[in-house]
Amino acid sequence: METTLQIEGLRKYNFKITPQRIRVIEFINNYPGHFTAEDVYKTVVKTEPSITVATVYNILKVITKSGILTSFEANGTTWYETNLEPHANFVCLSCGMIEDVAEDTSKISDSIASKGYTVRNVDLIVRGYCDKCVRSGKAI
Ligand SMILES: [Zn+2]
Ligand SMILES: [Zn+2]
Repeated sequence: METTLQIEGLRKYNFKITPQRIRVIEFINNYPGHFTAEDVYKTVVKTEPSITVATVYNILKVITKSGILTSFEANGTTWYETNLEPHANFVCLSCGMIEDVAEDTSKISDSIASKGYTVRNVDLIVRGYCDKCVRSGKAI
């Protein structure tokens, strides 16, 4: 159902519906949290063997433009997520885990908007060490 709705939304962006693209949308719908194009590729290639990483990147780019996905850079990679609410992403410098932290970034946008700038989005990345890495002595 949700897949159908999202595909309808994507048609507005001249998004040609192909089996590969449907598999990518299904991955997005079923994946909680943050993922990379590689993650999508590894899953989708099982049912769509002709798909390439470059194709996955292109599909994700179109979907991001449509507003269903958002992306940010961390650890040298582009990460995608469906959480469109303003939030900060915590990145562990040791294990690389990324988690949404409930900090509201709207204060930052409001403050910048008060200078007369138009804010489209705020990518706030907080770097540090997760509790697991701290406990196992990996926080240095
Ligand atoms: Zn960690
Ligand atoms: Zn996030």
